[in-house]
Amino acid sequence: MFNIILFGPPGSGKGTQSERLIAKYGLKHLSTGDLLRSEIDGQTPLGLAAKSFMERGQLVPDEVVIEMISSALDNNPQANGFLFDGFPRTTAQAEALDKLLIQKNTEIAIVLALQVSVEELTKRLLNRGLTSGRMDDINEEIISARIKEYERKTAAVAEYYSKYQKVVYIKGEGSIDQIFDALCKEIDKRIAA
Ligand code: AMP
Repeated sequence: MFNIILFGPPGSGKGTQSERLIAKYGLKHLSTGDLLRSEIDGQTPLGLAAKSFMERGQLVPDEVVIEMISSALDNNPQANGFLFDGFPRTTAQAEALDKLLIQKNTEIAIVLALQVSVEELTKRLLNRGLTSGRMDDINEEIISARIKEYERKTAAVAEYYSKYQKVVYIKGEGSIDQIFDALCKEIDKRIAA
């Protein structure tokens, strides 16, 4: 199994690059944002509990997302590996993920951290809001709350994995192809190692 975390602030291109990476490497895409949105669409109890946090640009409580990821791992026993997108977003989530992966005799191979300036993130998210239909992309206040949550709680996840020499920083500005090539280069190095 080869497991990747695609890491970065909201709007850094994780979703776009994930689609390409899973196609190239045959990985199972696990995006907690997508999973939560489908729970909201299905009006499940989990979706209803998550919605109020998401509408305000705040993180959903750790227990909720950890349980969701745990089920997703159990539901995909045949996967060649997972691409985690938007998870883990706190150190507690990272610790929980490590434990879940150990139970499956596997681990995170690499954390690819996309770096994009706050000005560019805001521009991209406002732009995406014009077509995405996402409630949390539509106004600058919510976007700014999401970026602050990232700085306050999520940035520490990169430090957590740095201790294990797993983090590689990639410039997330430039063309989609250029960024994809840079990501693939790092993955290929790890696969060959
Ligand atoms: P995303 O689609 O990754 O931008 O996530 C959209 C929203 O879903 C976030 O602003 C959070 O409210 C929530 N969310 C997604 N993933 C997580 C996570 N790993 N931990 C907590 N909240 C999350």
